[in-house]
Amino acid sequence: MERKIDVDGLRLEHEDGAYVLETPGDDPARLDEAALDDALEAAEPYVSNWYYWEATVGGEGTARRAFLRWCERAPIVDAQRAGRAADATRSVPDRYQRLRDGLERGWGQLVVTTRLVDDAPFDGERVYDLCHVDDVDADAAALERYTDPREARKIARADEDGRYRPLKTAPTLRPGWTFTGLSGEQLVETVDAFYPATIANWDRERRGELDVDHWLETATRQTGIYDVVDELPREAVDWMAESCCVDSQCLRRRAWQYADGDDLSTPSGDGQFPCREPCSLVIAAAREWTDLESDPERRYELELTERELAQLSALIDAVADDRLG
Ligand code: SF4
Repeated sequence: MERKIDVDGLRLEHEDGAYVLETPGDDPARLDEAALDDALEAAEPYVSNWYYWEATVGGEGTARRAFLRWCERAPIVDAQRAGRAADATRSVPDRYQRLRDGLERGWGQLVVTTRLVDDAPFDGERVYDLCHVDDVDADAAALERYTDPREARKIARADEDGRYRPLKTAPTLRPGWTFTGLSGEQLVETVDAFYPATIANWDRERRGELDVDHWLETATRQTGIYDVVDELPREAVDWMAESCCVDSQCLRRRAWQYADGDDLSTPSGDGQFPCREPCSLVIAAAREWTDLESDPERRYELELTERELAQLSALIDAVADDRLG
């Protein structure tokens, strides 16, 4: 054996003509080839866990692998980089126990359930289910059931009232569906269809490599009809972030600020995945604000009875409070 295995507490290497096998809680054993098979069998579930991450998932260092490990609360930094201490803090048997029951994690309005497959060709194989957070306790038979990740795009297109969702990370995803028995690759594809680029940006942020474009940088490189957005007063950028980017409007956590070292006063939000630059909807809103700011003021006079004035005020209040449906 030329390679050394070091995954989630399982260590196996070839050293001075013998195999050295170690699992948490056991001293390293020096074994010949004949004894290795029995020892590997006794080392379950570490061996099947290693096989799943090595042969099925692979992709060491990729966002896909990091996300799948996050889904089952496995340490994301691999043992070689983290040092041996990382292995001792997590127990694969404990994780298997939780995976048998189905381990749930939330991602925006999605809930991913990771579970071990009972009748899989090898022990340790995982599958993934995905549903809306409002449907976690719903009867599965009452939900639309999908297995093809491409269906997620159709579901994400409109909200519960059939209105188009221009912002895919708006908290308006409709419930009533489930994806079941997905492979790790299919799960990542499905999540990406619901929330584009959120896994990649989460992974970049986790590594400290998220390249953030702040408002001023983004605004000054706009051209055409959006060329004017860099004229928006700083105060108005704050109002815009407050009306477009807060948690009630968008599930991304705003990582961009007015400029590097010049933070907006609006809270960034608590979302799990970051937003690395002002999106096209915010740029479009900024253009509207810029136009509004530059409109010349004029004086208009209306003749109303007192009752009409009261009606008009009530109407304006209802629009402002979003009570008109
Ligand atoms: S700019 Fe604001 S609204 Fe757009 S994706 Fe980012 S956080 Fe969401």
